[in-house]
Amino acid sequence: ESFTDMCLDSSIMKDIAIHEYTTPTSIQAQAMPVALSGRDLLGCAETGSGKTAAFTIPMIQHCIAQPSVRRGDGPLALVLAPTRELAQQIEKEVKAFSQSLESFRTAIVVGGTNIADQRSELRTGVEIVVATPGRFIDHLQQGNTSLTRISYVVLDEADRMLDMGFEPQIREVMHNLPEKHQTLLFSATMPVEIEALAQEYLTNPVQVKV
Ligand code: AMP
Repeated sequence: ESFTDMCLDSSIMKDIAIHEYTTPTSIQAQAMPVALSGRDLLGCAETGSGKTAAFTIPMIQHCIAQPSVRRGDGPLALVLAPTRELAQQIEKEVKAFSQSLESFRTAIVVGGTNIADQRSELRTGVEIVVATPGRFIDHLQQGNTSLTRISYVVLDEADRMLDMGFEPQIREVMHNLPEKHQTLLFSATMPVEIEALAQEYLTNPVQVKV
C-alpha cells in the first residue's frame, strides 16, 4: 500500500512529500491502515523500522477530524514514551507531518525541563502531547492538563517503560481515559507483562510485527 492509497489529508500528503517519504516501510504499510480505521493496534517493532511515522501520521489525521481545541481544553491525543530523547524524536516527527496544517499545536512534556513553561503551554490548549509518564502525571495532578478529550493514545516502547518502572503511571492514565478512545501499543519485545497490559487495555487489537 502506498501513502496515496491511505486517503490522508492533503496537507499531511504535502509534508510526507517534503520529507521525501516516498514508500511506506513495512511497519507503516501494515500499521497505518489499521490505525486509520480506528482499531486498536499491538505493534512489535524496533526503532529504525519507521514506527514513529506509523502512529504519528494517523494520529494527526485523527486530530484533524475532531472539534477544535480551545484554551483550557485538554489534548486530543497523547503519546507516552520512556525517555526524553525518544519523546523529542517523536515530537519532531509530529511537527514534521503537521507543519503545513494551520494552527496545529504539539507540546512536549518531559522531565528536566521548565515545568512552568510546560504548564502555560498546556493551559493554552494543544492538539497533541508527547510525554514521559512521570512528568505527564505531575501535570495531571496539578490540573495543568486533562484526559477528558483524549481519544487516541500511543504507548511507545512499552517494554522499556515497564523496565523503567512506569507501570503505575501508565495504568493511572489508561484507567482514567474517556470510554471512547483508540489505543496503539508498540514494543520491541513481547514479554508476558506486555501481553497482560495489551490484554487489559486494548480492545480486539490487530497485531503487526516486523
Ligand atoms: P523510526 O523507526 O520511526 O525511528 O524511524 C527511523 C528513521 O527512518 C527516521 O529517521 C525516519 O525519518 C525514517 N523514515 C521513516 N519512515 C520512512 C519512509 N517511509 N521513508 C523514508 N524514511 C523514513
